[in-house]
Amino acid sequence: MELSREAIVESLQQILGAENVDTDEHVLQQSSIDNFRKLENIFGVYTLPAPAAVARVGSTEEAAAVLAFAEKHGINVVPRTGGTATEGGLETVVANSIVLDGSGMNQILGVDAYNMQATCQCGVPLQALEDAAREQGLTTGHSPQSKPVAHMGGLVATRSIGQFSTLYGGIEDMVVGLEAVFPGGEVTRIKNVPRRAAGPDIRHVVIGNEGALCFITEVTVKLFPYLPENNVFLGWTLKSMKTGFEVLREVMVNGYHPSVARLYDPGDGGLHFSHFAEADDCVLLFMAEGAAGIAKATAEGIDAIVANHPECRKVDSGLIETWFNDLVWDATKITAEDERIRRTRNVNRTTEISADWSSVNDIYESALKRILLEIPDITMAGGHSSHSYINGTNMYFNYFYDLVDCGPEEEVTKYYLPIIAIICEETLRRGGSIVHHHGIGKARTPWVKDEYGSSYHILETLKHAFDPNGIMNKGTIIPG
Ligand SMILES: Cc1cc2nc3c(=O)[nH]c(=O)nc-3n(C[C@H](O)[C@H](O)[C@H](O)COP(=O)(O)OP(=O)(O)OC[C@H]3O[C@@H](n4cnc5c(N)ncnc54)[C@H](O)[C@@H]3O)c2cc1C
Repeated sequence: MELSREAIVESLQQILGAENVDTDEHVLQQSSIDNFRKLENIFGVYTLPAPAAVARVGSTEEAAAVLAFAEKHGINVVPRTGGTATEGGLETVVANSIVLDGSGMNQILGVDAYNMQATCQCGVPLQALEDAAREQGLTTGHSPQSKPVAHMGGLVATRSIGQFSTLYGGIEDMVVGLEAVFPGGEVTRIKNVPRRAAGPDIRHVVIGNEGALCFITEVTVKLFPYLPENNVFLGWTLKSMKTGFEVLREVMVNGYHPSVARLYDPGDGGLHFSHFAEADDCVLLFMAEGAAGIAKATAEGIDAIVANHPECRKVDSGLIETWFNDLVWDATKITAEDERIRRTRNVNRTTEISADWSSVNDIYESALKRILLEIPDITMAGGHSSHSYINGTNMYFNYFYDLVDCGPEEEVTKYYLPIIAIICEETLRRGGSIVHHHGIGKARTPWVKDEYGSSYHILETLKHAFDPNGIMNKGTIIPG
């Protein structure tokens, strides 16, 4: 029999202590959504069922006990750490869900400078881990813009990526081993080794599961030497995105690994570079880092490649460095942006995809053209590429619209989802991936079967195998 809200709260209080079970009405409303429906939070209009409680766990054992309880009674569990999700992964779509909050599991368990790896609990903010690594002259190499506010559990659960990815990779390249709890309370530990060929790499069942398979409790990631004194910044303006993509491609296929490789179109670039770029300029920029010889050779190699594209005009490297140092978003910036939206009703949203070099420019052009044609009240639409690989790159669409003749709670259906639909359609048509790094969440589930094609069978089977009763984050990744 389905448990009542009161019975769920009472049982959680017995498991965790009353002080760790939050039932404050406003906290519950805020916990029913994430940034996908951020306007509901900004304007205080909530449309989804509030969870029964936010259960704050302090240990793996407590997380296991909550998952065993939820499994027994068929209660939906939404894992959470930093709460910075952008795609609806934190939405509680059914009544009386439990938000399983790991932000209190915030201990750094070790920074091992000899074996170059660090271990921490899921609720450690990435910034805290990075600070601990820096004390020993090391870095995690992971620097998403949400670094001060996102936590290690969520970063692993969403397959996050940071600004230095072209050198260090995404989180999937950094995670060495981990611990996670599966429905029913089964605790699993994947040990920390440099490589293994003992069958499939099961880390990848956990990395990117978005709380739809298990709750991550502990993570071990690689460390790298931190040598900022060797950083070299490079920048150019140019008139064509197509040329910019070609430069990025040549840099990658020639084997260079700058930590940062970015290309902005005039619209998106105008938000950052109007003090030196003309209104119709694209901006191409790089940062080379690492050991002095490597950074120097990387910068020289990029310079030589760009020299073959005479339309690129060099920018003073100091301008690129200054801009770069202000890229990360902390809580103050996020609050200021929310306040701007409340005041102006002008909304800024983003959607990121990936594609091979042959398709990316076509996806960029066709999606942008359709957004401007089909969506009303757009005030800016543009984008940038910020993560490149030998076989392709990502495109991060960045767009603003005014809310006209609709309430904040209608924003997602009137504007945001139709734009996501255009971007997904244009990407899928050309064989790209509809999600480069924010996760599927609930926002992009309508396209998940097309994203996976015949491999959807593997995804569905994983879900049924690990979460047979469907208690983990209903509606996330797998359409509900
Ligand atoms: C201003 C801003 C900038 C951003 N910049 C970037 C960026 O540069 N790169 C990038 O990749 N992303 C970025 N993001 C998106 C977001 O920060 C990442 O997705 C991040 O990884 C989420 O971490 P979190 O701790 O906040 O997770 P949460 O928001 O708490 O959760 C995210 C998802 O993971 C699941 N989850 C959380 N914790 C666990 C756990 N312990 N076990 C299992 N599942 C869990 C949740 O159920 C949810 O589906 C940005 C977001 C914002 C708001």
